[in-house]
Amino acid sequence: LTSKLPDVGTSIFAVMTQLATEHGAINLAQGFPDFNPPAALTEALVRHAQGSQHQYAPMPGLMRLRELIAEKTARVYGVAAPDAGTDITVCSGATEALFAVITAVVRPGDEVVVLEPAYDSYAPAIRLAGGRPVYVPLRLPDFRPDWDQVRAALSPRTRLVMVNTPHNPTGAVWTEADWQQLAELLRGTETLLLSDEVYEHMTFDGRPHRSALQHEELRARAFVVSSFGKTYHATGWKVGYCVAPAALSAEVRRVHQFVTFAVSTPFQLAIADVLGDAGSYDYLPAFMQQKRDLFGQLMRGTGFELLPSEGSYFQLARYQQLAPGEADVAFARRLTQEAGVAVVPVSPFYHDGTDHGLVRFCFAKQDDTLRAAAERLQQFA
Ligand code: PMP
Ligand code: GLN
Repeated sequence: LTSKLPDVGTSIFAVMTQLATEHGAINLAQGFPDFNPPAALTEALVRHAQGSQHQYAPMPGLMRLRELIAEKTARVYGVAAPDAGTDITVCSGATEALFAVITAVVRPGDEVVVLEPAYDSYAPAIRLAGGRPVYVPLRLPDFRPDWDQVRAALSPRTRLVMVNTPHNPTGAVWTEADWQQLAELLRGTETLLLSDEVYEHMTFDGRPHRSALQHEELRARAFVVSSFGKTYHATGWKVGYCVAPAALSAEVRRVHQFVTFAVSTPFQLAIADVLGDAGSYDYLPAFMQQKRDLFGQLMRGTGFELLPSEGSYFQLARYQQLAPGEADVAFARRLTQEAGVAVVPVSPFYHDGTDHGLVRFCFAKQDDTLRAAAERLQQFA
C-alpha cells in the first residue's frame, strides 16, 4: 500500500505522553489539564447519562447548544450573534472542525498559508485534500508574523490562510493590528480564513483575545474554530465547534455529516447546561495566569530561560545553559528519562524540523504538580 502520508509518524504529543508513562515522569508535555472539569458540568453529564436522550443528535449539533454558542459569541466579542440555525456546526473536537473546514474548501493544487510553528494536524489535512501548505515562519523571539513574508506567500492560488491565536506552542496572542494587517492583505481576494481560537479564554496580563469574528471584513470569509475541551478542562470529551457565515458553514456540514455525522448527545446536553453561565469561563484568564506565574517563579534557578507567554496554557523555554547544542527532540527525551519531567520539543511544529532549541511546558496542571515538576527540574540543573 502506498501511504498517502508517508512521512507522518505518531503525533509528538502522544509520543511524549507514552514516554512519560514509561518513565513515570510528570507529564507537562501533552496539552491537557490534570484536574477535573467544573463540577456543574460533570454533574450535568451524570444527569444526562441517566436520562433518556441517547440517540443521534442533529447533524449540525443540538439546537439548544448552538443557540447558547451564538449568545456566548455575541456576549464575549460584542458582535452580532451568529445564526444558530445556519452558522454554527458542533464537531468532534476542534480537530474534526479543522479537518472538515480544510476538506470542504481546499481543492487539489490549492495553496494554504500556514504560519510556523504550527499545530500538527493542519498540514496533513491540507495534503490529504490535495492542497499544498505554504509555510511562513513566525519571527523569534516574540513569534509575530513578518507581514512582508506573509504577503510574499500569498498568490492567486491561495485558497486559505490559517491563523492560531492564542498560539500553540508559543503563547503569542494576536492584536487588533495583526488582524488589520491580514485584512489588508486579503482584501479583494477570494482567499478564505481558518482561525483556530481554541484557547480563546486564556489570555494574560489584561490582554484581550481578539477574534476574527470581531473583524467584520474578515468575518465574512472566516471559519472560527473553538473547543469545549479547552474551555471546560475536558479534552477527552472531544466537543468543539466552527462558526462561519451560512454559505461557508453549509460546506463544512457537507463534510462533517460524512466524517462523524453528529457529536455525542449526552455531552452536548451537559455542555448546554453550563454554557449559559458566563461564570463557567470568565474566570479562566485569571485562573491560568496564576498557574503561568506560579510556574515561572518555581522555575527560577533551574537553568531554563522562559519566554513570555501571553496566552494559551503553554510556555516555551530555552535550555541552552543546561545542554548546549543538544537537539530539542533529544533533550526532551532525556529530560523525561533523567529528570522525570516530560515536555514537548518545538521542532516537530515545523515542517522541516527547524530547531530553535526550545521546549514547551503545559502549565494547565494542579499547583502541586507544577511544584513537584519544578523540584525535579531544580535537581536536574
Ligand atoms: N488546535 C490547537 C491549537 C490545539 O492546541 C488543539 C488541542 N491540542 C486543537 C486544535 C484540537 O482541539 P480538540 O482537542 O478540541 O480537538
Ligand atoms: N493539543 C494538544 C497539545 O498541543 C494535544 C492534542 C493531541 O494530542 N492531539 O499538546
